[in-house]
Order: sequence, then structure tokens, then C-alpha cells
Amino acid sequence: MLYAYAFISKYDIERKIIMNVFLYIIIFIMGTLFGSFYSLAVYRIPKKIDIIHKHSFCPNCGHKLKFWELIPVLSYVFLGAKCKKCNTKIRPRYFILEILSGCTFVLIAYCLKINTYNLNLSNIIRFAFIILYLVCIFIIAGIDKDERKIEKSVLYYGIMVSCMYIIYLCIMGHNTSIYRYVMYLVTFIILLIIDTEYQIRTAKQNYLIETLILILVMIVNSTEFVSIASIFVVLVSILLTRTIYYLKNSLNKHKKEHKDLNQLHKFAYLLTIANVIILIGQMRVYY
Ligand SMILES: [Zn+2]
Repeated sequence: MLYAYAFISKYDIERKIIMNVFLYIIIFIMGTLFGSFYSLAVYRIPKKIDIIHKHSFCPNCGHKLKFWELIPVLSYVFLGAKCKKCNTKIRPRYFILEILSGCTFVLIAYCLKINTYNLNLSNIIRFAFIILYLVCIFIIAGIDKDERKIEKSVLYYGIMVSCMYIIYLCIMGHNTSIYRYVMYLVTFIILLIIDTEYQIRTAKQNYLIETLILILVMIVNSTEFVSIASIFVVLVSILLTRTIYYLKNSLNKHKKEHKDLNQLHKFAYLLTIANVIILIGQMRVYY
């Protein structure tokens, strides 16, 4: 009898391990699909190209990509990193981003202890909200890296996700401090009014106000601690790069480097990287 139990439990454990591996492969594939979507959105949104209805195409020759040319990670390898029609090289950054996105999804799911042993609904909902949040910050970061600009439509999407998360937390009663959430909502409204007012008066976007809105989105979705730690890390790294830049220039008086320091410090981009790394680290400790 004992042998039979031992056999069943061993068989059971093996089956669950296989199911977990399968689950994490699906999560990885999901991450790579999102990674592919981030690249598409970062390229199209600033150019005002439809991100949902327009079929994917080669930016050089306009060749409409077939289904098998759209498979994240794999199609890059099969196509030999170039367009099938015009042979233009596909930048490796798409491939790297898809793999990184897949790994980020796996890490977050692992930190939230998502597995086939016990499907904890609140952890699955948290995972879904983190994915919605990542879509916002990754696209904002990508556009900021390319153009040093915070895309407003993506920021509005981030505010919408934050409001949904606040409503969810209030309904579930995860935190009794409802005043904190009311304060966040009021701050969102105040910042949006200031931002709109600025844009009406100057017909320009204000990077600082938009960064503040982004920070508030981060606070709601990744906690105050993670956001403050991210800001601290980014500020220290900016301070260090500036110091190195000035030191280099003062030492090499004949060969001065002239860089636009604002271009060097893409705050939203740096903040996103710091935020995701610290968020994963914090989840590893608390979940
Ligand atoms: Zn092409």
C-alpha cells in the first residue's frame, strides 16, 4: 500500500512539474508577443499609424508581413535578421526586446508564485494588472528613448489602468486607506488640468508635468516604495553621468565633448528600467 502511495505521489509531482513548465512556456510566449507589440507601438504611435487595424509591414519596402514572418523571436532567426523582399537588415533590438519581455513575464509570474499547484486568483489578477501596466511604461520608455518625448495617448492609457487598479483595490478591500487612493485620483486630475492648460497656452508638451503623471502611474501600480527607489536610482545615475561628463571635459580641455545633456537623460526611459527591476526585486521579497 505504501509503495502505491509513493508511486502516486511521485507520478503526481512529475505531472505537476511538467504542467508548470508548460505554463511557464506559455507565459514566456505571451511575453514575447507583447514584446513584439511594444516595438510595433513604439514605431507607429509617434507616426500616428494605426496600431490595431493596419497590417504589419517592412518600414523600408512596405512588404506586408506574412503570418510566419510575425512569429516573435523565431521569425527573426528564420529570416536571417533581414526583410524577405528587400533584404534590409532587421535591427537586433526587436529580437532582444521580445526575449527580454518574455523573461520579464516569466520572472513576474514566478515572483507572484503563479503555478499549477495552487491557482491563487488575487495573484493572477495582480499579474494581469502588472501586464497592463508594463504595456504603458514599456511603450512610453521606447518612445522616450527614440524621441525624448512622453506620448500622451499612452499616458492616458496608463491613467486608465491606474484608475481600474484603484477601483479593484477598493472593491476587494485590500487596503483600508481609501483616502490615499482618493488623493491619487485628485492628483491625477490636478496634473492633467495643469498639463492641458500648459499645452493650450504654449502649444507644446511639458516633459516635467508628463513625467510627474508617469511617476503617479508608477506609484499606483508598483507601490510608493518601488517608485521612490526607482527615482532615487535614476537621479543618482544621472548625477554620476553628469559628473563624469564634466570631469572628462575639464581634463581634456583640447578635445571637449559637446553633448546635449537633456538628450542624454531620457528620464522616463531610465525610470522604467529602474522601476521594472526594483518591482521584480520587491516582489521576490514580499510574495
Ligand atoms: Zn523590406
